[in-house]
Amino acid sequence: MKLTSKIEPLETRHTFRISHRGSKAFRNVHLQIEDDVFTGLGEAAPATYHGENADTVMGALGTMEAELGDDPFQIQSIMDRVNHRITGNAAAKAALEMALYDLVGKRLNAPLYRLLGLTKYQTPLTSFTIGIDDLDTIREKVKLAHAYPVLKVKVGVDRDLQILQAVRDVTDKQLRIDANGAWTAREAVEKIRSMMRFGIELCEQPVAPGDIEALRFVRERVDLPIFADESARTAEDVPRLAGAVDGINVKLMKCGGIREAIKMIHLARAFHMKVMIGCMIESSIAITAAAHLSPLVDYADLDGHLLLAVDPFKGVKVDKGKLVLPEGPGLGVDRRPITLREISMTSGRKRQR
Ligand code: MG
Repeated sequence: MKLTSKIEPLETRHTFRISHRGSKAFRNVHLQIEDDVFTGLGEAAPATYHGENADTVMGALGTMEAELGDDPFQIQSIMDRVNHRITGNAAAKAALEMALYDLVGKRLNAPLYRLLGLTKYQTPLTSFTIGIDDLDTIREKVKLAHAYPVLKVKVGVDRDLQILQAVRDVTDKQLRIDANGAWTAREAVEKIRSMMRFGIELCEQPVAPGDIEALRFVRERVDLPIFADESARTAEDVPRLAGAVDGINVKLMKCGGIREAIKMIHLARAFHMKVMIGCMIESSIAITAAAHLSPLVDYADLDGHLLLAVDPFKGVKVDKGKLVLPEGPGLGVDRRPITLREISMTSGRKRQR
């Protein structure tokens, strides 16, 4: 099998701001694995706070190519060889593994969710993320998100209460909050208690990722489900989090791929935890790969592609918030024709091939 990869610059419509950083430009990596007939697609959305960037992904994929062999059905052996050669590099591994699944699905002419034995009608609603912004822009963004019944509001700054008030000025929708680790344990308790009046469903990662006891401290003192995101990277983290949180947010780019994500989901179930499937800023390739797993989870936050100015691919659709899986084989993802309006919107950006 032959592997080719390229850096794919992506731009969000608005600067995507969370508690400790903000950006509009993202460098993902798209790859193709070809056999004699079919092409499998994959995508890595590397995060610098996990030690990856587009260049490390390109380098890792270059090393991984030698381990591919010629049978895409041997995903387990291929990934064992890759893991033996390269530690970390979760986003690069996720990209490779999803391309193999895409190729296998195309060879068998079956969509990924069917290969996994899942039912497409059991997909959850996805939330739509409202990043940190000035209050007028937040009200505007909430109005523009009218098609999505569940919002995830980024918090973790001084004006959190004003932000939530601005959201509530314009909607009575279901709200989740995500502090991306911004608070100390005591601050989190105080903040969450003061936010309860806005009617919130759950809180993601109130405290810094390294401190599981801080998560437990918060959970024991507030009347709101607490979810671990940055604290729950791989399956190994799940048993440690049992009892400290109500649920985990599983992401392909953190854990290294579809098989590890499934392992995390089932482990979490064994500890009676709820499960969310989430994403980074990603095009429809990686978002659709995660969406195929969504019949296994309680909550989805698969909106990375919806936040893009231009999504170069099409795959999973969202209908009144509900994820609608594509019927095409494998991931069911295709390149999307870009409209003239979109070309003018992104005329400033250089495409790297
Ligand atoms: Mg999060």
